[in-house]
Amino acid sequence: MTKFTDLALRVTMRLAVLEPGESLTTRQVAEAMAIPYNHTAKAIARLRHLGVVEARRGRGGGLGLTGLGRTASIGWLVRELEGEEEVVTCEGETPCPLRAACGLRGALRSAQQAFYASLDPITVEQLVSSSSRPVLLALT
Ligand code: SF4
Repeated sequence: MTKFTDLALRVTMRLAVLEPGESLTTRQVAEAMAIPYNHTAKAIARLRHLGVVEARRGRGGGLGLTGLGRTASIGWLVRELEGEEEVVTCEGETPCPLRAACGLRGALRSAQQAFYASLDPITVEQLVSSSSRPVLLALT
């Protein structure tokens, strides 16, 4: 999994424990989760594009999770953040000579599908309802 996906999941988890009507700025999220501001801003932009995070306007405005973000499957979210890439690069500038008949490639594809399938039943809400909730709330 890329570092970017992990950072986006961290941001999502922090926003998932906000009380109704509460919100955070990008800088607050960055500081709470120990992520550089620029990386946090990029992750939030991607999460907004996916409809997981929303920017609330007005007094007390800031960032919060959408309804979709709260109920989103982690498997779906990780797939969206990671893209359709395989875990190995068989083609590219110097294609692998084994690619025409490689058993490893298929095995890795199956492992990748199993990885996502194991994350599919877990929602964002479920992820933060465990022991991580008080830890996330304590991060300011
Ligand atoms: S050995 Fe197989 S999986 Fe690895 S790069 Fe070559 S074709 Fe792809």
